[in-house]
Amino acid sequence: MSEDCIFCQIVAGDIPGRTVYEDDTVLAFLDANPLSPGHTLVIPKDHHERLNNTPADVAGEVLSTLHELVPAVESAVDAPASTVAFNNGEVAGQEVPHVHGHIIPRFEDDGGRPIHALVNDRPDLSEDELDAIESDIVAEQA
Ligand code: AMP
Ligand code: ZN
Repeated sequence: MSEDCIFCQIVAGDIPGRTVYEDDTVLAFLDANPLSPGHTLVIPKDHHERLNNTPADVAGEVLSTLHELVPAVESAVDAPASTVAFNNGEVAGQEVPHVHGHIIPRFEDDGGRPIHALVNDRPDLSEDELDAIESDIVAEQA
């Protein structure tokens, strides 16, 4: 546990949360400032700052919980769709430095936008630049 982490405090029961799922590894609870009805957060119980620091088995548990909860959340609020996403790191908009996946139910004409609306200016990458990025990412996994 990280003492000053608000999500660790929810896991510990020190501050309240509206829990919708819990097991030994994962906790899911309603977002306190929802973007839509049913906005749910899925976190590992252990403190890991972002996906990059999260052990693979724990990340797998978080993903399988998201997979389990998405249809339940959508059904509960009668949503035809949802945006499922991580703000992975401060520059990407992560405000709480304890890794969490968002399930944001989406509705017809809700005024929300797709992930493609995240940036205003898309880079104009050449084929060569795309090839270089492709091989760099493959090399980073070696
Ligand atoms: P992010 O910007 O991805 O770090 O998202 C953090 C989310 O945590 C926001 O959607 C907040 O509304 C939510 N949040 C912050 N404090 C609490 C809390 N005590 N209980 C539930 N959700 C919270
Ligand atoms: Zn934490």
